Amino acid sequence: MKKRIGILGSTGSIGTNSLEVIRNLNRQGFECEIVFLSCNNNIGKFIEQIREFNPSTVVLHNEARLTELKDSGIPKLPEILTGYDTLSELVGRDNYDILINSLVGFVGLVPTLEAVKRGKRVALANKETLVVAGKLINDALESSGAELLPIDSEHSAIFQCLTGENHRDIYKIILTASGGPFRGYSSKELADVTVEQALRHPNWNMGNKITIDSATLMNKGLEVIEAKWLFNIAINDIDVIIHPQSVIHSMVEFRDGSVKAQMGMPDMKVPIQYAITYPDRYGSDFPKIDFRNTGSLEFEKPDLSTFRCLKLAFESIEKGGTYPVVLNAANEVAVELFLNKKIGFLDIAAIIEKELDIHESAENYELQDLIKIDKFTRNNVLKKNL
Ligand code: MN
Repeated sequence: MKKRIGILGSTGSIGTNSLEVIRNLNRQGFECEIVFLSCNNNIGKFIEQIREFNPSTVVLHNEARLTELKDSGIPKLPEILTGYDTLSELVGRDNYDILINSLVGFVGLVPTLEAVKRGKRVALANKETLVVAGKLINDALESSGAELLPIDSEHSAIFQCLTGENHRDIYKIILTASGGPFRGYSSKELADVTVEQALRHPNWNMGNKITIDSATLMNKGLEVIEAKWLFNIAINDIDVIIHPQSVIHSMVEFRDGSVKAQMGMPDMKVPIQYAITYPDRYGSDFPKIDFRNTGSLEFEKPDLSTFRCLKLAFESIEKGGTYPVVLNAANEVAVELFLNKKIGFLDIAAIIEKELDIHESAENYELQDLIKIDKFTRNNVLKKNL
């Protein structure tokens, strides 16, 4: 049976890897058909993807690039939608089986929620979805019977470790973190690091936003919150450990003391393929791990007093309510400001902390409340820092 797939954010790192996986699966008789693709700005790559995969619909988030798409000379143009507001209608259609959501940031929330409500399989790379609205997503999952499969490598690792296990036997989830390019730095050293240094991740090749999040360890903070909702685990039962080699993608400790780890190359194609073919596995010619060359595996405690973003993430989810929405919104804007060289590296955590301090969380909330809080926090951070 052919799988009909839609990809949001198809020209980014996860999107490009997803299409590579789909080529690989099609070669092996696991048939995938692309129903829709979306892109923000990378119009050249987008046009190539449309030519190769013939989606029936495409979304161009940045309307300014519309003429380029229309003048691209593609023989039969697909239906073209623009902006982000069209995503809810598109994802609400019934003409696909799997949504791969690789949008970056809060904008990924509405399409995830819509696909979950429709009972689809959602292969989720957009971690912000669960950070800001884990409860809403889980409620929707329960009533629709949709499947939420993590693409994030740590969460795919945990998901794989938990296959065949009972939830009650989980003692601890252990998220590994590479530590990023500034592992071992003091606060004094961090004060002067540049954007270029922060973008040089030692193990993973990713988009700019997540690479900066990895350098501040906010990425791990977001992943802790993501794990809590995905696996229904108390925050105290989630540990973060620095593992610079990124060979172990994460681990689960069970109540009998046994620990399962999932290992592999730092290659997003593996979790993406598993999310598409689960519960089956398919082959690939992607690079494989060679233990004769991995050397020793090291582990160390994260330095929460230096890498304050991780601490703030823990605090926001411990407080609960809508604090993680503020954490995420302030972080998204602060990272953008840092990338544009408007603020320094340590300002990212300082900005987030300020916004968390002034926030008054709601006990009960709906999607519209989250959208309002997100917007309010973004405006606040921009007002104070431009
Ligand atoms: Mn990750």
